[in-house]
Amino acid sequence: MSQSSKTLIVGCGFSGAVIARTLAEHGRVVHIIDQRNHIGGNAHDFVNEHGIRVHQYGPHLFHTSNDKVVQWLSAFTDWLPYQHRVKALLSDGRYVTLPVNKETAEIVGCDRIIDVFFRPYTRKMWGVELEQLDPAILQRVPVRDDLNEFYFPNDTFQAMPKDGYTAMFQRMLDHPNIQLQLNKAFDKAVEGQYSHVFNSMPIDQYFDYCLGELPYRSVKFHHHTLPMPSILPAATVNFTHDQPYTRVTEWKKLPGHGEHPSHTTLTFEEPCDYKDNHMERYYPVKDLQGINLQRYQQYRDMVPAHMTFIGRCGLYAYLDMHQAISSALAAADNHLKGFAKAMPFGCCN
Ligand code: UDP
Repeated sequence: MSQSSKTLIVGCGFSGAVIARTLAEHGRVVHIIDQRNHIGGNAHDFVNEHGIRVHQYGPHLFHTSNDKVVQWLSAFTDWLPYQHRVKALLSDGRYVTLPVNKETAEIVGCDRIIDVFFRPYTRKMWGVELEQLDPAILQRVPVRDDLNEFYFPNDTFQAMPKDGYTAMFQRMLDHPNIQLQLNKAFDKAVEGQYSHVFNSMPIDQYFDYCLGELPYRSVKFHHHTLPMPSILPAATVNFTHDQPYTRVTEWKKLPGHGEHPSHTTLTFEEPCDYKDNHMERYYPVKDLQGINLQRYQQYRDMVPAHMTFIGRCGLYAYLDMHQAISSALAAADNHLKGFAKAMPFGCCN
């Protein structure tokens, strides 16, 4: 291993940026790279020509019950309170609340819930029948027997970063010990120049797919602006039909996302295999037999001591934002403890 005390972080999404900031604050010099031309990973957002904030890679609604994560992030952003609501569009044109609550069940009929809300959506989203999918994925959207209308009814903290995600990432990365380089893909040849590498690239790709490929689902995002002030009954509408789109988000319905008087911007989501979307990996595929996870574990066993895999593609896990942050904080903490142990006289900063 190199004698350099510099750390390389591959990927500037939540996992990479949280680790970069944590190490930087502990006096470590960090080089963070991303092959894309922007920071924020899939949480990246931008303001379009109508002054409407758009999440380039689909809606990112921040929700958690993890106080430590909220406290940590709050150093880089103020918040706008927001509780996400989702409606499903039925084939007869009616909108009903999702996740299915008592009212939705009464309208649609209890015996039709799976076939209306879960079967077509899951087929589009994952490319398989729902019987072939790990039930934990469907349990993210539990059927309820109350009249609650919120998508994340149980989380104690739900809010949007006041100036958007990109601004929050900018503040996180604004530290003299952090050197950021965009449009820069990881190159194994430079590994030796760093004391440690935190790597959010796909683990199978790092190992040249030597044990086979880890499959992912991807999403094509279609952004459209319409000459009307408002169109949807909620920020997100999920489709129950058999057409390719799973859902649509109207950005102006989120707080701090623009107030244009005559135009509104929508983003439609069209899931596909990652190979049909420029190898953009969004969702690791959790098969019922656990074959993909087993393959992932075999890759994990090959990871060298000077490298830590992080994030959805490095851990091959369906992480929400707060889980990615929590996991990154733990990875940075473990690393710093190990580093402290290696320092002479047990000193650390
Ligand atoms: N799901 C569904 N119908 C819906 C919403 C979700 O069948 O209207 C299933 C689908 O398999 C989806 C999973 O539940 O992939 C998790 O949904 P969630 O909204 O949590 O997905 P995410 O926002 O992470 O894409």
